[in-house]
Amino acid sequence: MNETPVIDKNEIQTQRAVMELVRSSFDGSAPKALVETYGCQQNVNDSQRLRGMLAEMGYAFTENREEADLILMNTCAVRDNAEQRVFGNLGALKRLKAVKPGMIIGVCGCMAQQEHIAERIRAKYRHVDLIFGTHALYRFPSLLAEALEHRSRVVDISGEGAIAEGLPVKYDEGVKAFVSIMYGCNNFCSYCVVPYVRGRERSRLAEDVLAEVRELARRGVREVMLLGQNVNSYGNDRGETDAFAELLRRVNEVEGIERIRFMSSHPKDLSESLLLAMSQCPKVCRQLHLPVQSGSDRVLRDMNRRYTAERYLSIVRRARELMPDISLTTDIIVGFPTEERADFEDTLKILREVRFDSIFSFIFSPREGTPAARLKSAATDEEKAAWFQEMLDLQNQISADINAKCVGEVQEILVEGESRHEADMLFGRNSANKIVNFRGDISLKDKLVKVRITKAQTWILYGELI
Ligand code: SAM
Ligand code: SF4
Repeated sequence: MNETPVIDKNEIQTQRAVMELVRSSFDGSAPKALVETYGCQQNVNDSQRLRGMLAEMGYAFTENREEADLILMNTCAVRDNAEQRVFGNLGALKRLKAVKPGMIIGVCGCMAQQEHIAERIRAKYRHVDLIFGTHALYRFPSLLAEALEHRSRVVDISGEGAIAEGLPVKYDEGVKAFVSIMYGCNNFCSYCVVPYVRGRERSRLAEDVLAEVRELARRGVREVMLLGQNVNSYGNDRGETDAFAELLRRVNEVEGIERIRFMSSHPKDLSESLLLAMSQCPKVCRQLHLPVQSGSDRVLRDMNRRYTAERYLSIVRRARELMPDISLTTDIIVGFPTEERADFEDTLKILREVRFDSIFSFIFSPREGTPAARLKSAATDEEKAAWFQEMLDLQNQISADINAKCVGEVQEILVEGESRHEADMLFGRNSANKIVNFRGDISLKDKLVKVRITKAQTWILYGELI
């Protein structure tokens, strides 16, 4: 069984040919591009693909908008504040375009994939030349070529979403890299726009993922983060079962890679075989990001999450049985429309029971087209803000307590470079992905070292090199 849509190799060849044409059309110095990324790791990874294609087309890169000949905003639609930031920044670019009419301004990614947003940009932001959604990402060279040639607006929010292998990627510098193993989502949590803007689940072939991981190792990458909206259902679209556990074991064999992380995992699909693979693969970090969203069974049902608080707790118990030192992190939404005070207290209860190392928390943001956007809110905005703060206060205490217990431990740290905040210190991350600052020579950058933890703060650890 193979229903996973894959872009034909000839189409990829066509895009490669267009990249050559664009490159040859620039005479003299290379034009400069700026790709701005909003949102999640998957978007960061998509931006690396966009930069890869731009590099092939002869573009150099800048971080300075004034200097850029092309500005591309790779957007996020998960919450309203991310969208508002994009609209604010787009507005600010109007003045720049007025003084530099030859520049190209593009909006792509999850916001652009939505019809109502594309329409709003079309109508109100006339200085935008290029609008394309997540499904058209692989067609970026053709779309840009058209915008450059005709100097008229190009819009492409069509398509269903398919796997496109064989396009260039410009990885960020450094010892860590993201690798998307699948795209899209089938879960339709009632608050979430992702399935609408990223389409149905499509898994890359294990061979393609492994080839990318091997290439990254060859370039000096030591840590990979395997990405998907729900990595636990990796391979299901190809009729495979438990394929993610198997993939993890195979990535664990790649020479040169020393650490493996992954996100996100949906609790309803987290299997015993995945926990076993994690516990048996020495390179897989002792860290699990397992979004719970709420501690209330009623709210979880309304969110269409398809697990109960007790089921979630049973996964946590089993994970800790197999890996007593595992660090757990989660996502929580406060103020889902049907959430009442008693439901919120169930969320506080689950925080106290699990004792997450850290949480990523969000106030519910209604997303057009999702079922939850049509529900009336039980709590007021003031109540939601107060609950949110109450939850943060509790979590800060738990995170500080967990970190305090690390003092005296010897931890393995992957060194990333000089600390941006502490003079004369290096920083790196431990297996739990927490930042650890310590004194050492910059020649340790990109290496795994042992550090004894000497001091703990809520979000940062300090130590000394052994
Ligand atoms: N697929 C991942 C999962 O299910 O864990 C997460 C994807 S989403 C980009 C990241 C987080 O954003 C979610 O876990 C959820 O907590 C939050 N989120 C999604 N939609 C939201 C909304 N409408 N309002 C507030 N937070 C939202
Ligand atoms: Fe959104 Fe739910 Fe899919 Fe995560 S699993 S991307 S929250 S629909």
